[in-house]
Amino acid sequence: MRWDKFRKSKNVDDVRGQTSRGGFRLPGGLGSTGGGGRRLRLPRGRGGKISIWGIVLMVGVAWLFGINPLELLMGGGSLSGGTSNQQYQQTNQSKPYNSSAKEDRQKQFISAVLGSTEDVWHQIFNQFDRTYKEPRLQIFKNLTTDNACGQQTSATGPFYCPPEQKIFIDMAFFDQMDRDFGVKGEFAYAYVIAHEVGHHVQKLLGISSKIQQQRSRLSRAEGNKLSVKLELQADCFAGIWAKRAEQQIGYLEEGDIASALKAASAIGDDNLQKKSRGHIVPESFTHGTSAQRVAWFKTGMQYADVNKCNSFN
Ligand SMILES: [Zn+2]
Repeated sequence: MRWDKFRKSKNVDDVRGQTSRGGFRLPGGLGSTGGGGRRLRLPRGRGGKISIWGIVLMVGVAWLFGINPLELLMGGGSLSGGTSNQQYQQTNQSKPYNSSAKEDRQKQFISAVLGSTEDVWHQIFNQFDRTYKEPRLQIFKNLTTDNACGQQTSATGPFYCPPEQKIFIDMAFFDQMDRDFGVKGEFAYAYVIAHEVGHHVQKLLGISSKIQQQRSRLSRAEGNKLSVKLELQADCFAGIWAKRAEQQIGYLEEGDIASALKAASAIGDDNLQKKSRGHIVPESFTHGTSAQRVAWFKTGMQYADVNKCNSFN
């Protein structure tokens, strides 16, 4: 793929070489910092609904810190929601990081793919008279990161943290895809990044918070079914990116699509479970089967239309 044609995003934070301890820092030096990466939870009534006291407190806190209270309410009740990216900070001890030429290139690649997703989603949101708010993306290396979504290690793989509106990618991920899944090819990696951006789009459209609410009322197995649908929609959104970026820039080369489909197939739940435990347990699927993931990515590519990505129907 000719990713050199893509505009590089400015939303990449590189924390390689840093050991991080996450913490919330509220404006004006108030609040907790350091240690644990705790999530500030607001009081909720029965059934996970935000209680009236929760709302009063939220509005009060929002007023105190100059945050739009609506954004706190929309952000799933977490103080790190909405615009409050600045509030969650990591206190880092950094030592100079010796980046290899290979990693430098990978960083360029990530910035390019992210930049391209920005251009595509700006275009789509504009068509619906909406504004696309770009996510940030943090790259790290062999680090345990604390963030508003809890603690993750390198083994977690790339992920999106909705309250922070941030994507996290361990640099080791490229080798891991190759080693553990036999997935090679830049377009396959790009698909994974575009999938995480797909989760960001779901966050902006209010889809993820709706699903989260529904999940809290369901059994584990039923909840897993919903999460599969959410994941498949993110695959479909990744397909939309792939197609629209091709229309915008023309970057695809022979074999690219095949390598993304191979990746989508390799990280299907059935395939992963067969590899790790030798058999599959469909009730525990959270991402969908290989066939489903491939199918939804293809749907996204075929129509390049958000409305065709309704995996919930
Ligand atoms: Zn996902």
